[in-house]
Amino acid sequence: MKVYNFSAGPAMLPQEVMEQAQDEFCNFHDCGCGIMELTHRGKEFDGVINAAEQNVRDLLDLSDDYAVCFIQGGASMQFAMVPMNLMLPGGLAEYADTGTWSAKAMKEAKRFGEVVTIASSKATNYDHIPNIRHWKPTPGSSYLHITSNNTIFGTQYHDFPPAVPEVPMIADMSSDIMSRPLDMKQFGMIYAGAQKNLGPSGVTLVIIRKDLAARTPESVPTMLRYSTYIDNGSMFNTPPTFAIYMLKLVTDWLKNLGGLARIEQINNSKSEALYELIDKGDFYSSPVKPDNRSKMNVVFRLPSEELEAKFVKQAKEAGMIGLKGHRSVGGIRASIYNAMPLAGVETLVDFMLEFERNNG
Ligand SMILES: *Cc1c(COP(=O)(O)O)cnc(C)c1O
Repeated sequence: MKVYNFSAGPAMLPQEVMEQAQDEFCNFHDCGCGIMELTHRGKEFDGVINAAEQNVRDLLDLSDDYAVCFIQGGASMQFAMVPMNLMLPGGLAEYADTGTWSAKAMKEAKRFGEVVTIASSKATNYDHIPNIRHWKPTPGSSYLHITSNNTIFGTQYHDFPPAVPEVPMIADMSSDIMSRPLDMKQFGMIYAGAQKNLGPSGVTLVIIRKDLAARTPESVPTMLRYSTYIDNGSMFNTPPTFAIYMLKLVTDWLKNLGGLARIEQINNSKSEALYELIDKGDFYSSPVKPDNRSKMNVVFRLPSEELEAKFVKQAKEAGMIGLKGHRSVGGIRASIYNAMPLAGVETLVDFMLEFERNNG
């Protein structure tokens, strides 16, 4: 039976990508061995990493001012690399606190300087994105850090704070990168662990305006400096070759589909189908303010925890896994990243209607 995987990450990958990787697994482009067995210094892998970078550039329409880096250590390592590299002398940086991942990023930044919280939704258990359209930077601010999609709480920025020229905006986009068109000019840097929307775990995509990398103090070690990745095409040391290869296939898939404008339409259809059902009656409910609901992680509650446990169990029997909400919020979470087909969401919607009929 085909299983639809609603897990928050690592998450499902496009079926076509999985099949292509399977086809090439033992024999990449007739070279007689698999891509992960090949040197990263050879022409085969060179072709892969260059194509991966070009796909990222094409999809986001990046100018030459921006570098594309493939870094290990996950988005979590970026929580530290960002302040280590980009905090100005006298160190102060601004953060919007919109969930667990923002809070973790702030905790790391505090090791390197002062953290100013420009807004927080913590008091209401992160049920919304604070309005920061009119934020005013603190004098001497190094950057503003936001989390574009809050994977655990199911909130998402649908528009971003205005760019302030002196204060580059940096976004953790781990759970919604390439789910919609993006104007990169608004940002000094974005980053994303690949395992939600771009590929398997093991590689983190970092896109950074090149001039910012000049800020890095001398004391920062080689492997933690953005300039090391920029100057060496992410190959100062051995990169995660298989993860980059998979990212290349996923971004090929996205381009063939029609790019970010097209995937946004599909993502809108998927999330609207779920929210419409959630809002229709009293059985399902959303803890998130309607204007800030995520199109990637749809979080909802049932009338009781017993029913939620029954829902997760019966959904699994019906071929839908990964629906249990994060332990810090409870309830149900349907993660519907780019790779989740509309058919998967329709299957879930049908199941939800039937579950309500039987238990409502
Ligand atoms: C999953 C996630 C992370 C953590 O990513 P790792 O690659 O596991 O470090 C950070 N931020 C957001 C928004 C996430 O969804």
